[in-house]
Amino acid sequence: MITANMLSVERTIRELKQKIKNIDLDVLRFLRDNFTIDYYPNDTCIHFNGIAYKNVLLEPQRLKMDFISFVSHAHSDHLPTGGHGSILSSEVTWRFSKRGPLIKDIPDNIELLPAGHVPGATMLYIEDELNVLYTGDFSLHDTSLFMAAEPRKADIVFLDATYGAPDYTFPEREEEKTRLLEAIDYFERVNVLTYTFGKPQEILTYLREHYGKGFEEDVYLSRSIFKKTYIIGDLMRSAGIDVYSFSQNPKRASIMITNRAILDPTRVTITVSGFWRAEGDYHFYLSSHEDYNGLLEFLRKCEPRLIVTLWGPEGSERNLSRDLEIPALSFNELIALLTVLRYPLI
Ligand SMILES: [Zn+2]
Repeated sequence: MITANMLSVERTIRELKQKIKNIDLDVLRFLRDNFTIDYYPNDTCIHFNGIAYKNVLLEPQRLKMDFISFVSHAHSDHLPTGGHGSILSSEVTWRFSKRGPLIKDIPDNIELLPAGHVPGATMLYIEDELNVLYTGDFSLHDTSLFMAAEPRKADIVFLDATYGAPDYTFPEREEEKTRLLEAIDYFERVNVLTYTFGKPQEILTYLREHYGKGFEEDVYLSRSIFKKTYIIGDLMRSAGIDVYSFSQNPKRASIMITNRAILDPTRVTITVSGFWRAEGDYHFYLSSHEDYNGLLEFLRKCEPRLIVTLWGPEGSERNLSRDLEIPALSFNELIALLTVLRYPLI
């Protein structure tokens, strides 16, 4: 038997009613007429698959034959985990997805924009009766491997709100980068602990700038970091880095870049991430996302009439809405809204 907590449903609808009052009617109409919720069945039940703009699924769990699936970048929590169908992404992201053909003829009203997050990351821009920007994970910094995200005017922005609370403020990036390189210089033998894709390759570009040609021989990459670096070997080469020249000897290389697979206890451990947790002996905040002020700066330039927050801490949409005086919904609220717009209970 299916049951629902009707009190909770009624409360959600009541809260949504309040929020809807602030959203322009043509925005609501546009959402109702162009966006749907998508599901996929398995043997026993039906699962939420994501939302779709017309026939474009936005970062779905599974690909689908009758849809084009937009994949923003190659981090595992953004890659589809199954299904069949074509992929709309950069060619670099597609290399990591390992499924589905890459769409070559992108619909005329759709554009992929640099996202400044990791190599190959893109934002999706839709020109229609209203314009929509779906950022995926993004940041406003660039490296020799990718370009920074640039704000674009859009009526609706689906926002990466990973750091959507005012207490998330990062130190100035260039200074943090300088401190990281100074620490690596100073300690001579270091573990640099980070993720497998994006950050390590970015750090390699900093090492290349700092130590110059041939630095690879003194750097050892853990197996999974090497694999992902190798996949983008052509990009690395264009940044002056030779993926075939890295040290094969984890004991001799001064710098070991690792994702915890191997940690040499005789070395000083330096962690590099944007997360507000410090592991290891020293921590450097080089985020691939924007901090709260960066989100505000970006949104001010996009001038949206509605913000939809994705992935952030609870209340991100309230924080942004308050500080920008623009209506904002969490992703769950958008799902509820799309449901009630289709089945008008309110
Ligand atoms: Zn990411």
